[in-house]
Amino acid sequence: MGLVTRFARQWVAGETMADALRVANEANARGIDALVNHLGEHYREKAPVEATRREYLDLLAAMQTEGIRGEVSLKPTQFGVLIDRAYALSEMIPVLEATRATGRVLWLDMEGANTTDDTIWIGEQLLTRYDRVGICLQANLKRTGDDLERLIRDGARVRLVKGAYKETPEIAYRTRSEIDRAYLSHLETLFTRARHFAVGSHDGRMIDRALALAKAHPTPFEFAMLQGVRDPLKIELVRAGHQVAEYIPYGPNWLPYFTRRLRERPRNVITMVRSFVSG
Ligand SMILES: Cc1cc2nc3c(=O)[nH]c(=O)nc-3n(C[C@H](O)[C@H](O)[C@H](O)COP(=O)(O)OP(=O)(O)OC[C@H]3O[C@@H](n4cnc5c(N)ncnc54)[C@H](O)[C@@H]3O)c2cc1C
Repeated sequence: MGLVTRFARQWVAGETMADALRVANEANARGIDALVNHLGEHYREKAPVEATRREYLDLLAAMQTEGIRGEVSLKPTQFGVLIDRAYALSEMIPVLEATRATGRVLWLDMEGANTTDDTIWIGEQLLTRYDRVGICLQANLKRTGDDLERLIRDGARVRLVKGAYKETPEIAYRTRSEIDRAYLSHLETLFTRARHFAVGSHDGRMIDRALALAKAHPTPFEFAMLQGVRDPLKIELVRAGHQVAEYIPYGPNWLPYFTRRLRERPRNVITMVRSFVSG
């Protein structure tokens, strides 16, 4: 586990809030905004949900004290959406209030497709209280075109990603070319019709298309990438005058997140095995 922990460190700030704040400060020093997530998901008991709510309140206070530029991003299942969506909403409202008090954006991650409806419902409820709410949408889901239209109408911010969860072929595109095609089509919609969205990808093709669209449609948007991925590109984009955010996860429950990162790029597994062999 020691070696795995060390390998995971490239994508996870560490186990404590102090680790997240350190990485967020480092990102800010490079001209990059922080997008901080406290790891943890699929809670079915109220105690870990309530601890998560307290953690985010402390995190927002600490970000404020340290003058960190950036936002937080919550997972609906860490706020109890699998218990009951109204309960999850009620647990998020104090975090929304704290976010609003500091003028930050509250982002919602998107998880497995069994939570998409509830996540959008929660996002819409939050939007009635504060207009700076963002919701992640996944290009691999066939429903995303409709969801995107709906969220644009709602005035939500959207973070477009390819999707990190394995879904069934009835509801999701499974091949890389289909997912990329959907991503490019949603990018077009965002640049022509939305404002304040996030292009969440490390894929050079998606980023180049976003750069081309940005030239034709001067609308406020940001690039968002994960901690530990394509660091030189982040700096390049900042130097070219773009807004870039780095998703910084922290906390002891890092294993599911780490597994998703390993799975999405076979080369990551090879690199990990090589690093173990070489000690
Ligand atoms: C800010 C952010 C937030 C996210 N939030 C969510 C969420 O809420 N829900 C969700 O389901 N998913 C989320 N994701 C994950 C997302 O769905 C994808 O699983 C992940 O981003 C990989 O897809 P990709 O677009 O980077 O392209 P991929 O198809 O994975 O990668 C394409 C190309 O990117 C380049 N690349 C990728 N990694 C590296 C690397 N380490 N070094 C160099 N080049 C590399 C390579 O050229 C690669 O071929 C998020 C991603 C980001 C960036």
